[in-house]
Amino acid sequence: MKKTFQIAECRASLRLWGWSPAWEALVRESIEPDQAVGRVTAVFREQCLLRLPNGERTGEVTGRFRHLASNAAAYPAVGDWILAQEAGPDLALIQDLLPRRNELSRKVAGKTVQEQVLAANVDVVFVMTAFDEDFNVRRIERYEVMARQAGMEPVVLINKSDLAKADDERMIEARDVNPDGVVLRVSARTGEGLDTVRFYLPAGKTGIFLGSSGVGKSTLLNALLGDEVQITKPIRMSDGKGRHATSARQMFILPAGGLVIDTPGLREIQLWAEEPALTEAFSEIAGLAGLCRYTDCTHGPESGCAVKDAVEKGTLPADRYAGYLKLSKELSYIRRKQDAAEQADHKRRWKNIHRAARAFYRDREKSGD
Ligand code: GDP
Ligand code: ZN
Repeated sequence: MKKTFQIAECRASLRLWGWSPAWEALVRESIEPDQAVGRVTAVFREQCLLRLPNGERTGEVTGRFRHLASNAAAYPAVGDWILAQEAGPDLALIQDLLPRRNELSRKVAGKTVQEQVLAANVDVVFVMTAFDEDFNVRRIERYEVMARQAGMEPVVLINKSDLAKADDERMIEARDVNPDGVVLRVSARTGEGLDTVRFYLPAGKTGIFLGSSGVGKSTLLNALLGDEVQITKPIRMSDGKGRHATSARQMFILPAGGLVIDTPGLREIQLWAEEPALTEAFSEIAGLAGLCRYTDCTHGPESGCAVKDAVEKGTLPADRYAGYLKLSKELSYIRRKQDAAEQADHKRRWKNIHRAARAFYRDREKSGD
C-alpha cells in the first residue's frame, strides 16, 4: 500500500522535474517504505538541493554512501535521481543514486586525472558560441566530443546573431565541424531562433548549455524564462558550519515545462572521453580512416595515411586535422594516466595485503598458537 502511495506521489509532483514511467519502473519494486525519490536540482561543495515529492530539501549523502563511493563521479550531480530518507524539516539523506541514463563529464580542472560529472540524465546538449571574438570552431569540437561521450548529438547555437549579417560565414564554419548535426543562429537579445531552442525543450525534458563564459548563456536562459520571477543568479546555501557556498550548477523550469541546467563560470573544459566519442565528433575523419594502410593508424606519423593524404589534397582542412590530433593526444594522455593510476592502486593494495599477512603471522608467533 505504502509503495503504491509513494509512486503515486512521485507521479503527481515530480513529473514537472522530469519523472517518467521509465524511472518509475526502476524503483517500483525496490523503494523502501521510509524512502523518497527526488531529483538533484543544484549542487554545492558538500551539499545539494533536492526536489522531493513534498518539496525542496537540502541533501547530504550518508556515511555509507561515502564509504561505497569509489570516486568523485559517484557523488550526486545536478540532474541525478536519488533515493533519500528525510532527516528533518529541511534535510534529506541521500542513500542511493538511480542508475544514470547518461553523464556529461569533464576532467577536473588542474593536474589531477579524475572525472567530474557536470550533469546527469540530460536530454539535449546545446553547445554555445557567439558571433563575436569568442567564436572558435576548435572549442565547438571540444564540447561536441563531450556531448558525444554522453551519447548525445549536440545542437550548436551561435548566439548574438544581432551582431552578424544574415549570410555570416561563421555559420558554414560551424556546420563544417558539426557535419551531422544542427547549427542554429540565435539571439538572446532579439529573440531570433529561441522558438527552435524551445522546441528542443518540451515539458519534462532536460537541457544544458555548454559554452565559455561571455557567450550569453545566462542572458539566453533569462530570455527563455521570460517574465518568470526566477533569476539565474547562483543560489547560496549555508552548510551548517557557518560557511556559505554558491551553487556550481543549477536547474531551472521554463514556462513551457522544459528544464535547463545552468553552469555559471565554467571556464576550463578538459575532456573526459574515450575514442568512440572522438570518432563520432570527427565522422568525416573516421570515414577516411578505413582507407589508411594500417588498421590502427593514429593518423600521425604513419605512412599510407588516408587522412593526411586528404589534408595534402585539400579535401580535409588542415586545421580540422590539427584539431583532431590535439584532442586525440589529450585523450591518450588521460588514458595513460588512468592506466598508471590503476597500476599504482593495484600495487598499493598488494603491499597492504602483504603487510597485513606479515603482521598476522608475527602476532600468531607471539601468542604462541
Ligand atoms: P555567460 O557568461 O555565457 O552567461 O554570458 P552572459 O549571459 O553573462 O552574457 C555576456 C555578455 O553578452 C553580456 O554583456 C550580454 O548582455 C551579452 N549578450 C548576451 N546575449 C546577447 C545577444 O544575443 N546579443 C548581443 N549583442 N549581446 C548579448
Ligand atoms: Zn591514418
